[in-house]
Amino acid sequence: MPELPDVTVYVEHIARRTVGHTLERVRLASPFLLRTADPPIGAVQGRVVSGVSRLGKRIVLALEGAERLHLVIHLMVAGRFRWKPLGAPVPGKVGLAAFDFGAASTALVPDGGTLVLTEASSKKRASLHVVRDEGLRALDPGGLEVMGATFEAFAERLRSENHTLKRALTDPHLFSGIGNAYSDEILHHARMSPARLTQKMPDEDVRALLAAIQEVLAAWTDKLRERSGEFPETVTAFVPDMAVHGKYGKPCPRCGKPVQRIRYADNEMNYCPTCQTEGKLLADRSLSRLLRGDWPKTLEELEARKAGRAEPKAEVRAAPAAKRPRA
Ligand SMILES: [Zn+2]
Repeated sequence: MPELPDVTVYVEHIARRTVGHTLERVRLASPFLLRTADPPIGAVQGRVVSGVSRLGKRIVLALEGAERLHLVIHLMVAGRFRWKPLGAPVPGKVGLAAFDFGAASTALVPDGGTLVLTEASSKKRASLHVVRDEGLRALDPGGLEVMGATFEAFAERLRSENHTLKRALTDPHLFSGIGNAYSDEILHHARMSPARLTQKMPDEDVRALLAAIQEVLAAWTDKLRERSGEFPETVTAFVPDMAVHGKYGKPCPRCGKPVQRIRYADNEMNYCPTCQTEGKLLADRSLSRLLRGDWPKTLEELEARKAGRAEPKAEVRAAPAAKRPRA
């Protein structure tokens, strides 16, 4: 899912091409995309874009008029934007909508064009809301903007509930724009366990975490900016040079030991035991259940077990459980 760095770069590109331009027409290709009925989608047509911004992980286009309206787009997992010549067709299958912007001689980029929204997934989860100012406020989950946050504001949010770091960082009500991918990268950069509890963290660690958040998000925003070229066609959180996210089994770029993962629901979390958890493996609940507690507690143990395991998996499952004392 596009997060703060990806969405920021989209916002910059879309702003450069649409601010000062008239949104002439909206072409909806998917009946599931639009989630609001009032104001009607037709009300945004013929209005000039006054600004483009990020609201959490959403992208917001503000449209001037007697009463300001906003187009709010959430890309969810597989939603992406493309920039095409004005009037370009909505691509079949993946196309959700097209937004046609006319030429504007006084704008930064005078040419018009079409912003195409696609979603390369059978699950159509991306959304479009058309709202007034108060509707926009209602869509704001209220997460703290981390890039300019002070230590005090950050610490207060972090300790407002006693969660694991992974959960706290990815909660949109606590922090804005951080999701599964960048939270993995942030925690690896900070050398902190994703399972650490937020209310037990001393000030110096909270300070180090905030610095890691700002460094990682700024570095990735810069990297994505450099790569985006004319328009960020391929912006995505699954970038090949991430340190741990999506890198299960690959060597950690800092210590060379294999990256581990925990899968939960339809997501996963990646971390380096050597760099982040003093070598301890975090228990994967589903796997722990399957192995009936017979789960290695350290990377060394896991490696030794893998090395010594020529026998099929069934034998591991059949091995008597709970012989190993729980650490
Ligand atoms: Zn490492």
